[in-house]
Amino acid sequence: MAAPSLVLFRRDLRVADHPALAAAMAAGPTIGVYVLDDTADGRPLGGAARWWLHHALTRLAADLESLGVPLILRRGAQNTVVPALARDVEASGVYWSRRYTPWGVAADKGLKAWASEAGITAQSYAGSYLVEPWAVQTKQGRPFKVFTPFYKAMQAAGEPSLPLPEPEPQEPLLLTVKSDTLADWALLPTQPDWASGLRQTWQFSAGERTADFLDTAVNAYPDARDRPDIDGTSMLSAFLAFGEVSPRQVWHAARHRASLEPAAATGVEAFLRQLVWRDFCSSLLYHFPHIADRPFQQKFEGFPWANDPGALRAWQRGQTGYPWIDAGMQQLWHTGWMHNRVRMGVASFLTKHLLLPWQAGEAWFWDTLVDADPAQNIANWQWVAGCGADAAPYFRIFNPITQGDKFDPRGLYLRQWQPDTLSYEPGAAGIRPIVEHRAARERALAAFATIKGA
Ligand SMILES: Cc1cc2nc3c(=O)[nH]c(=O)nc-3n(C[C@H](O)[C@H](O)[C@H](O)COP(=O)(O)OP(=O)(O)OC[C@H]3O[C@@H](n4cnc5c(N)ncnc54)[C@H](O)[C@@H]3O)c2cc1C
Repeated sequence: MAAPSLVLFRRDLRVADHPALAAAMAAGPTIGVYVLDDTADGRPLGGAARWWLHHALTRLAADLESLGVPLILRRGAQNTVVPALARDVEASGVYWSRRYTPWGVAADKGLKAWASEAGITAQSYAGSYLVEPWAVQTKQGRPFKVFTPFYKAMQAAGEPSLPLPEPEPQEPLLLTVKSDTLADWALLPTQPDWASGLRQTWQFSAGERTADFLDTAVNAYPDARDRPDIDGTSMLSAFLAFGEVSPRQVWHAARHRASLEPAAATGVEAFLRQLVWRDFCSSLLYHFPHIADRPFQQKFEGFPWANDPGALRAWQRGQTGYPWIDAGMQQLWHTGWMHNRVRMGVASFLTKHLLLPWQAGEAWFWDTLVDADPAQNIANWQWVAGCGADAAPYFRIFNPITQGDKFDPRGLYLRQWQPDTLSYEPGAAGIRPIVEHRAARERALAAFATIKGA
């Protein structure tokens, strides 16, 4: 048998439209590898994401098996685990999809250096975004800091290329090397098992959901996307975050829909624009890696954030006394997902009404979102907090009462997550509000005034 190649799976847990897998299989016998590496995203995956990962790896292993490709699971630092495995199976090559986070870039550079020293082929491919972060630049050759010109430049660059099909199966490879099992990793919660809401919510595959959304919801997306009481968005974010579907696959499925039904064109355009936001966030973290834990706008380094563990706990548990905020936090806790409009509301409430640092909210989202993704989470938190690139101005403070009335006019979302509550008035769910809206707003504006001219 020819020497096999390893394909490293990270946030690209699929077999179709996977250039690295396709290239490896075209070159010869292929082994899939997933390394559970707590440093891959700069910190261990959160609880909800671990739950998702368990199921995503189960699906990936089955898909790979049908291609004759075994999936080896190992735990530890990627750059220790992969060289050892490569030695054990006498691999001739290592293939992967490129990552763009500071941690991913650093680790993969190290792996390339090892491969070159060991005389092993190391091939990396694009695959996780519509474009690579260096492919879209200003006329001066600099990274974009504002979304709209980024979006226009992407449009000018033309359509992303068509997704690749699944590779042809190989002769099944039987290995003697050991693999961990998913059970060894205990990614699913047991004591207590808090995942029943997640199981109930996530009963569809990426393919089913894409088809459903494009068939039934995309036409109304431009307005419905702001309505948490309507099933109006794709709910593909976790599939995209783990790479179970590629953005190119989603892009072309949506384009195909518009070609079949011209009335879908406006909805499709609005939907694809959001997909470009995903690229924009990744591009920001790639070009400005300091935003991982520091504000994009330097003047916010001196922002007088509060330190109030009690308020943070109330926010995390959905006990702020503001039904709009508490409904969102309940949705997050039960399903591992929150509607984007409500994400903006709860993030604004944390960073403005409670004056708590965005990093505290980002960390909670990291632990509780099934779609937790470093670039999307960091860039969106900074956007809402007002300290990010192209951010909402800090003084735009979402009103947690009128936002509920506006985006959930019939109170359906409210009653789903705050049963028996009849209005978005503070205290309406029987919880005493932890801050008074107007006073909190004034306090936030006063805090902002201290750094405004900085
Ligand atoms: C404070 C905050 C934190 C967030 N953290 C994350 C996160 O960790 N992971 C994550 O995937 N999204 C995050 N988002 C972005 C957004 O809320 C979700 O992507 C979206 O709600 C997912 O639902 P959907 O798949 O139905 O979206 P759709 O409306 O159907 O959009 C389609 C896809 O476009 C992308 N997208 C949509 N909105 C955004 C956006 N604002 N920024 C970047 N990409 C976007 C997502 O991949 C999404 O699946 C965050 C937003 C906020 C305000």
